[in-house]
Amino acid sequence: MNDTIAAISTALGVGAISIIRVSGEDAIKIVNQIFTGCDLTKEKSHTIHYGHIKADNDIIDEVLVTIMKAPKTFTKEDIVEINCHGGISATKKVLETVLNNGCRLAEPGEFTKRAFLNGRIDLIKAESVMNVINAENDSARKVALQGLAGYMSDKIRKIRTQMLNLLARIEVHIDYPEYDDVPEVTSKETLEEITKIKKELEELIQKSEEGEILTTGIKTAIVGRPNVGKSSILNRLLKEEKAIVTDIAGTTRDTVEGKVNIGGATLNLIDTAGIRSTEDVVEKIGVEKSLKAIEDANLVIVVLNGSEKLTKEDRQILEKTKDKNTIIVINKDDLQQQIELDEVPLKNRIYTNTKDLEGLHELEEKIQEMFHLNQLKQEDYTYLTGARQISLAKDAEKILKEAIR
Ligand code: GDP
Repeated sequence: MNDTIAAISTALGVGAISIIRVSGEDAIKIVNQIFTGCDLTKEKSHTIHYGHIKADNDIIDEVLVTIMKAPKTFTKEDIVEINCHGGISATKKVLETVLNNGCRLAEPGEFTKRAFLNGRIDLIKAESVMNVINAENDSARKVALQGLAGYMSDKIRKIRTQMLNLLARIEVHIDYPEYDDVPEVTSKETLEEITKIKKELEELIQKSEEGEILTTGIKTAIVGRPNVGKSSILNRLLKEEKAIVTDIAGTTRDTVEGKVNIGGATLNLIDTAGIRSTEDVVEKIGVEKSLKAIEDANLVIVVLNGSEKLTKEDRQILEKTKDKNTIIVINKDDLQQQIELDEVPLKNRIYTNTKDLEGLHELEEKIQEMFHLNQLKQEDYTYLTGARQISLAKDAEKILKEAIR
């Protein structure tokens, strides 16, 4: 692990500056060979220096170089950061020059891996680094920052210490029962203690599972037969919320049509294009596609056309969504209403039209209420994140249950 690694730490594209980060034993020596400003090996830690990067006798770019000496750095190794101009060519050339002088290209995540292996951060913090980078909304960012600050690690460590203390007391008692100065450990006391720890862990898991939607988002399917107004609602949601519209080709099973931030959580809208296009897709296939979307969703928004009578397809969709987290939107309420309301569940029913925003706001409030978003936001944002962390906590919980038994 002692080789020196380098990588472009900023996104590669045209910008004002780019940062090339170098970490390892020879970081300062290597950059010093190609830097004209001063002798970096003689400079103090945590200082910044102006100069040029050169290759042979060619000036590559005008730069600012930061040197940070171990151990007070992100990786606990010597780190040099070269701030160069943000053009693709300049950035790549600076990296190439650094690599030609004795560094290896870092693998994805390798700086964080070193920080972890060198004991600077634990795995929860390492994962939090990724979560900060990938955060798509304020809540996800706050959860990740709490993780990075170590609040979750502290919580887990506290629970672990309680278990270790209990184990130690039990072992001492077994090994040295004859010693008078060893405090007695009774079953009653032990049971109380384990039950207390288990409760703490259970609460943490439950809270984290509820909080997960803050970081992963709510998988949302907008379904309904053609022409009821799904696209109009979607477009207005996207516009209203100034959403980041993405067309991510489905790496997994879903195609995500767009992302909308609502009340601190991200709605990941699942594509139900199948039931939208009537020209080249038989409606039956469309319904099948939307059924799949319904199955995968955490939230289903069923759109009905209030100005028409319910059709067989509407009824079919209502039937298929009755056991899901559903919001029923009766759209086109600006027109003469014909819909048979007595057949539409009253729970989570709202009315909208494309003429005003009231219905949309109501939809937003319903989602917040349904997923307890306001309540989650009042929490301290200390959650376990991701399947790995939650499943490990569940393993521990299972062992405690076993111990109690
Ligand atoms: P989709 O096929 O379900 O996605 O429906 P669209 O969003 O494409 O809408 C179908 C048609 O209904 C379009 O001509 C819209 O302009 C119209 N429409 C959508 N919502 C409303 C509404 O609230 N009121 C009225 N009067 N027309 C609407």
